[in-house]
Amino acid sequence: METVLSVLEEVAARPLAYARQWKEATGRKVIGLFPMHFPGELAHAAGGLPIILQEDDEPITIGQSNVFNFYCGYNRSIIDQALRGEFAVLDAILFGDHCVQLLGTADVIRANVPQLPILFNQLCSILDAEWAMRETQGTFRRLWHELEVLIGHPIDEGRVRESIRLFNRNRSLIRQLYDLRRAGRISLTGRQMQAVVKSSMVMDKAEHCALLEQLMAQLKARPPAPGVRVFLSGHLCHAPKLAVLDLVEECGGIVVDDDLYHGFRFIFADIDETAPPVDALAEWYLSRSKKVPCPTRAVKDLDWEDYLLKAVQASGAQGLIVLLAKFCEPHMYFYPEIKAAFEKRGIPHLMIETEHEEMPIEALKTRLETFMEIARRRAAA
Ligand code: SF4
Repeated sequence: METVLSVLEEVAARPLAYARQWKEATGRKVIGLFPMHFPGELAHAAGGLPIILQEDDEPITIGQSNVFNFYCGYNRSIIDQALRGEFAVLDAILFGDHCVQLLGTADVIRANVPQLPILFNQLCSILDAEWAMRETQGTFRRLWHELEVLIGHPIDEGRVRESIRLFNRNRSLIRQLYDLRRAGRISLTGRQMQAVVKSSMVMDKAEHCALLEQLMAQLKARPPAPGVRVFLSGHLCHAPKLAVLDLVEECGGIVVDDDLYHGFRFIFADIDETAPPVDALAEWYLSRSKKVPCPTRAVKDLDWEDYLLKAVQASGAQGLIVLLAKFCEPHMYFYPEIKAAFEKRGIPHLMIETEHEEMPIEALKTRLETFMEIARRRAAA
């Protein structure tokens, strides 16, 4: 089991190195995707390797002059990587609108790396609008066509169905891990779970499924050590720093569930394998936020805090830790409502604002220890 996890950890730590290796071995195209809503299935069906572009740990250097300081760490890191030449392995970047900062990032890359095609497909943000289905189907049809032009050959509908099936299989394997962890039957740390999901965002899906199947076969029923059961929420496009996840556990927490993008948010929804692919992709996109709300999308009568209250209760968590990437506007707009809802119900919660640069770990440790103590006492009361 340790070996499988270490392979996944290595890919998660060095996603572009994996992509370079894959390209060398296959001679096929690597397609970068911006988070959080663009399906990789079409790029996979076109014969490419879709990889979700990741923040790296390098300090922002040459990218600094091209980006506002008040952009989130994800955007600043992506711009920096592009200007450092790290994206040379990519044959294109695909993205759909999900936040204003990301649109700016795409423009900086366009201006500085003009040879790298950036395909922009507008995804509607009002998911329950009367025109949303029609528009979304149109978006995926256009993307299908643009990918055919990029790859230089038609994309067969049967291949798209196969890709959908494979991606569903991958998501379902990861969901099984979530179910087992939520039920307290296996012990996977926040760090390990992130490696599982983040590597899935990067690796060839068939290879990833094979590794997950090995992992499932090797997993032994091992309940986690006693501690405060916590739910992690937020941290949208970029993966929370591993040091922060480790600290939660060092301070006495056990992560039982999450709605992180590098977590449950990435794998909770499957695409219909029987419907015509464009319709299935559109339905997947439009219904995702109804199950795990996204602060960059709008659905009438749907609030993140209502979902969170239910999810925290269902997971048996004793407290909520909100990880908020500094300057992430969509998340910041929602946080006050989350705070108010959890305070009203007396459920312990803690907000940790994270930065791309060094985090003040000692100060954070004190806050986390206090939070765990409060959660422990409330649970005992
Ligand atoms: S983390 Fe927030 S601000 Fe940054 S790209 Fe994602 S949604 Fe936009």
